[in-house]
Amino acid sequence: MAQLLKQPTGSSCSYRADEIVDAQAKYPVQGKITLTHSGQGILIRAELTVKVELTCSRCLNEFLYPVSFSIEEEMPPTINVSSGLPLSKEPSDFTVDSNNMLDLGEIIRQYTLLNLPMKPLCQPDCAGIKEVSSHGSA
Ligand SMILES: [Zn+2]
Repeated sequence: MAQLLKQPTGSSCSYRADEIVDAQAKYPVQGKITLTHSGQGILIRAELTVKVELTCSRCLNEFLYPVSFSIEEEMPPTINVSSGLPLSKEPSDFTVDSNNMLDLGEIIRQYTLLNLPMKPLCQPDCAGIKEVSSHGSA
């Protein structure tokens, strides 16, 4: 990240999502993340699939739902490009931790929430709660 800002504008590098955000994300993340030095900062482009545990709105079973989305976000530089020193901290959605890694976990979390289905179904033709003889207290 910091290294990228020292490279010429237009430089980019790609990462596997699970390599850099696994520890930050609540759910397994798969896909590719490309960071490009845009001249203003870092342009984040990613094609991701996050497997989220949802509760089926019909049968109430929990199931893993793969949420796919693409991210395109520009992050302002957090370090002074010429000196490599951190800029004064400003409130921002995007933070860089002590390892100079993007806090992509928060971005991914927001995109994941935006892309969740309103009425999740464990399968497209979920039959819902079957009226079996042994129903519970509900
Ligand atoms: Zn279901």
